[in-house]
Amino acid sequence: MLCGHLHCDLAPVRLLAKIPMRNSPAVKARVAISWYSAQSDEAKDWEDLEMVEAGSNSRLTGGCRCGAVRYESDRPVHAAICHCEDCRRSSGAPMVGWMGVAAGSFRITKGDPRIWSSNGQARRHFCATCGTGLIYLNEALIPGIVDVQIATLDDPTMVAPDIQVQVAERLPWSAHIHALPIFDRYPD
Ligand SMILES: [Zn+2]
Ligand SMILES: [Zn+2]
Repeated sequence: MLCGHLHCDLAPVRLLAKIPMRNSPAVKARVAISWYSAQSDEAKDWEDLEMVEAGSNSRLTGGCRCGAVRYESDRPVHAAICHCEDCRRSSGAPMVGWMGVAAGSFRITKGDPRIWSSNGQARRHFCATCGTGLIYLNEALIPGIVDVQIATLDDPTMVAPDIQVQVAERLPWSAHIHALPIFDRYPD
């Protein structure tokens, strides 16, 4: 089944995004945009490309829970809540909020995410230390786009999803969470 950051059987392709050199202070960065064949799960999806100046050219920054992995990007081109089973099982959460950003605007500014693929096509990148899911790549389905988990933004209020996708796979009870009793903290 296809989904926005989803899972498919299409052949993988390779995309390489170049990042312009910038003035000091520069930090070593990696760009998340490489694709390898389904047979090469051990292949590195990250390549050292250029020295870029962190934090100066992007309005959005974020990272994993422990701080080992950091990223920055421009504003997204779309944002959605995904209910697909792959997102659910990968995150351990009922649904996941994603923002799609132009691949050329996204850069890892610290750390080396681990990569896992359920089908050899879609690549989920997460922090190997704390386990936070960070980005999703699927060049066959969302070419030129890096999907980033909205909740990993330093300020997640900066990006609001405006659609829900893969509702066909959502947990039935998730359709009604707005009707559940709410508490600022916990029930007495
Ligand atoms: Zn971490
Ligand atoms: Zn999904």
